[in-house]
Amino acid sequence: MDAFTTAPACAAMLDKQDPIALLRDRYYVKEGQIYMDGNSLGLCSKDAEEAVLRVLSDWKEYGIGVWSGAPTNYFLYQDILGERLSRLINADPEEVTVCTNTTINVHQCVATFYHPTSERYKILIDELNFPSDRYAVASQVRLKGYDPEDAVKVVKSRDGRMIEEADVVAAMTEDVAMILLPAVLYRSAQLLDMQYLTKEAHARGIIIGFDLCHSIGAVDHDFKAINCDFAIWCNYKYLSGGPGAIAGLYINRKHFGVMPGLTGWQGNKKETQFDLLPDFEPVNNAGAWQTGTQPLLSMAAIEGALKVYESTTMGAIREKSLKITSYLMYLIDECLAKYGFSVGNPREDSRRGGHVALEHDDAIRINEALKARGVVPDFRAPNVIRLAPVAQYCSYTDVYNLVGILVDIMENKEYEKYSSKRGTVA
Ligand SMILES: *Cc1c(COP(=O)(O)O)cnc(C)c1O
Repeated sequence: MDAFTTAPACAAMLDKQDPIALLRDRYYVKEGQIYMDGNSLGLCSKDAEEAVLRVLSDWKEYGIGVWSGAPTNYFLYQDILGERLSRLINADPEEVTVCTNTTINVHQCVATFYHPTSERYKILIDELNFPSDRYAVASQVRLKGYDPEDAVKVVKSRDGRMIEEADVVAAMTEDVAMILLPAVLYRSAQLLDMQYLTKEAHARGIIIGFDLCHSIGAVDHDFKAINCDFAIWCNYKYLSGGPGAIAGLYINRKHFGVMPGLTGWQGNKKETQFDLLPDFEPVNNAGAWQTGTQPLLSMAAIEGALKVYESTTMGAIREKSLKITSYLMYLIDECLAKYGFSVGNPREDSRRGGHVALEHDDAIRINEALKARGVVPDFRAPNVIRLAPVAQYCSYTDVYNLVGILVDIMENKEYEKYSSKRGTVA
């Protein structure tokens, strides 16, 4: 257990002892702003900017030759990025690629691995996952002629915050063909025991995959140990790969050779791709799940974002993330509980991701008051302010100042002048 105090000197000391404190200088952190929303959109790094400008300049210089004539082999860029991303989750380089967006990657994985029979035709999801995943699963089930009301089985939460692993396992009945769950829940930050759930699913012959949107770049997953069938994620949250960045896809190597559900020429063997043959020949790696041409400019931002990770380790990032969120929870308990705030995420390190779910009955108005004071948080209905002190660019002093601002807001009732209506983009 870390020994924290509420004194400002504690924050200063933690910053001084932070082994990755210098990474902050590589990001565009705005003076006077406390950025706590890296779980929605990570900040831009100078490395990402540089890589995007390089691709732009290569495009100017080479025209169509950018794909094959530039110093970087952009024709194989998705494999290069896949290899570098694979290190973040301890997967094999060939098991990871970048393509489309998270939602389409859910479609792709369900289309690939969901082969319903009259006995086994259900897809198991949870009640709390981000809705886009659920919309995609429901539409795939409909395409196969089933009614989502029947074929999409939903594990309920007992308290509206967490999903109990035991309830998921109990729901793994003989009619379940496939499971899709988040690694970290977007509202409560709960981290599921992916290795245990995969073992239980496989023992029952069920395909299982995870959505890493809220964990990639923050949690040091070990995919060699987890051994799930597939995973999907976006690269624009903790990873800072840029707004709307092309997404990530992991396919367990045991499935190489399986025909992808959605096929396109970019998934073809590279040697024969430009023969433009009528029959599709999938490449023998995760790249087979590619469809159309990849957006180079978006990939460049990811290349830059990954450079920051390559100057440290996922272990060091996870360690700081756990420590800085512990510090935030400590300050919430000590300084904010008396104003009606509470912590809505799990407390155990093994069960939580990179953000703190701060709960308050007046959360929506307090969130507005925070924004007026230069903090960038986000609000999730009905009562959660998500605060993500991202390890790469947030300091312990940021967290200390944030809590000081919250105390002010409550003492001076600054939130009372805001409405409790939510904006269009929350
Ligand atoms: C952020 C997020 C998404 C977003 O999907 P896009 O296709 O990138 O818009 C999907 N699922 C989860 C769990 C998310 O957290």
